[in-house]
Amino acid sequence: MGKRFFGSIVKESAFYMLFSGLLMGLAFIPISRFFIGLPAERVFSFEYGLICIGAGLFVGTFSFLVIRIVILKRLNDFSSKIEGITNNILNYKKGNIKRIDECKDCYVQLFSDDVIGRLTERYNSLVRVIRSLFWQYERMDEFFSRLNKSLELENLDKNMAEFIFDITPAIAIEVYHISKQEELAVGYSKGIHTQITEGKKQSLIDIALDKRVVSLKDAEVEIVEFGTGKIKPLEVVYLPFSNDSTDYGVLVLYLKRYLNTEEIALIKRLLNEYALALKSSLAYQKMQDMAAIDELTGIYNRRFGLKRLTEEYQRAKRQKGCLCVIMFDIDHFKRVNDTYGHQAGDFILSSFANILKDNFRAEDVVMRYGGEEFLCAINDATINNSYERAENIRKKVKESVFTWKEINITITVSCGVSTYKATDKDKTIETIIKEADDRLYIAKNSGRNRCVYSNINCLTE
Ligand code: GH3
Ligand code: MG
Ligand code: MG
Repeated sequence: MGKRFFGSIVKESAFYMLFSGLLMGLAFIPISRFFIGLPAERVFSFEYGLICIGAGLFVGTFSFLVIRIVILKRLNDFSSKIEGITNNILNYKKGNIKRIDECKDCYVQLFSDDVIGRLTERYNSLVRVIRSLFWQYERMDEFFSRLNKSLELENLDKNMAEFIFDITPAIAIEVYHISKQEELAVGYSKGIHTQITEGKKQSLIDIALDKRVVSLKDAEVEIVEFGTGKIKPLEVVYLPFSNDSTDYGVLVLYLKRYLNTEEIALIKRLLNEYALALKSSLAYQKMQDMAAIDELTGIYNRRFGLKRLTEEYQRAKRQKGCLCVIMFDIDHFKRVNDTYGHQAGDFILSSFANILKDNFRAEDVVMRYGGEEFLCAINDATINNSYERAENIRKKVKESVFTWKEINITITVSCGVSTYKATDKDKTIETIIKEADDRLYIAKNSGRNRCVYSNINCLTE
């Protein structure tokens, strides 16, 4: 807009008021003569002219003052309110104040059934929008710092879900992950006794793939089991999340009141951020796995294997259980290398590792302890059963023919078995490994292709 001639509406209105007052004063002279019929010598006198012009200017000045008091005062009120909220925003930006949504004095209280009233309403709704944006902005900020606390998937799900639980009228929350093979896993659950039925599984997969928010209200909502009993939420909202790779999932919110569209928009935004963090978390997990896995054999390397073994040892200690450790060593392995070459040796190592993988459960520990030495551990086993496991593996290896580039290779293994049980309170993890190693040494010295164990049985004290 171009600059006005006066550069100020105050001066401009003052000018027009005085000018119209002057015109009115001047117009009053002929009106007095021709309409009112006052004598010409009185009307056209200097004094009469002065009085008319003076009265006109007085009316003009008075009107201007009224406008100034009534309208300009209110406009000034606006101005100072806007200044207040602007200062709040600036201070928030500078970090002087922590929250902007607590601004109590940001609304203008004016009741006027005209343009000023409309201006007030519009200004107040603008402030409301700004405050709600800041509220969202602050929640996003808090959410980021919550997500950044941990890259572990478990913590990530917990941090995300608890945050959303706190900012919504939720009574329960669940996080589901869906794998490439369409398997469903519960990432986190709070306030509800989570049960996965075939029907629920299919609906969750459909929602995740469809990428649309689904809301069930009132009669559509089923009664769900919570920690303390059964309850019927007013609304259940299913919010799918995904990143551009193949990580899908659904967040389920059980609510005591309906969510409004703004809340849903905010949660969707939070879930987008979470999906990105999820991608980093899964990449981190993959890196951790890579650092934990021996490249040649695909089982745990020594460093990570020992970490897992320590965890199992501590668990056995806590639960007064029994931990069994088996140390395997391939017999005369050097000969395999010397006879068939190093690559054939590598092939034998990975084939033996596959036999171990097939004979232990996912919760057992199986690691490559050294070149051709392997250490395995079973928690909650009896020594008889573990000894059987070790013996079975030894027999299986003896009976197997490993074919490397059309060359048939046979090998044998020796092993030593040791245990930790509830009565072995002071037995350290190092001692348990050393016992297995000592027994392996005995097996080697007494002819190889055998397993040595002590006749300790976890079940009989
Ligand atoms: P023993 O019956 O007493 O165990 O005899 P051994 O020949 O198996 O034992 P020794 O310790 O003398 O030799 C182990 C060999 O394992 C020596 C080493 O070159 C080989 N080795 C270690 N790591 C690897 C590997 O990653 N690949 C291959 N091909 N060979 C390996
Ligand atoms: Mg060996
Ligand atoms: Mg060895």
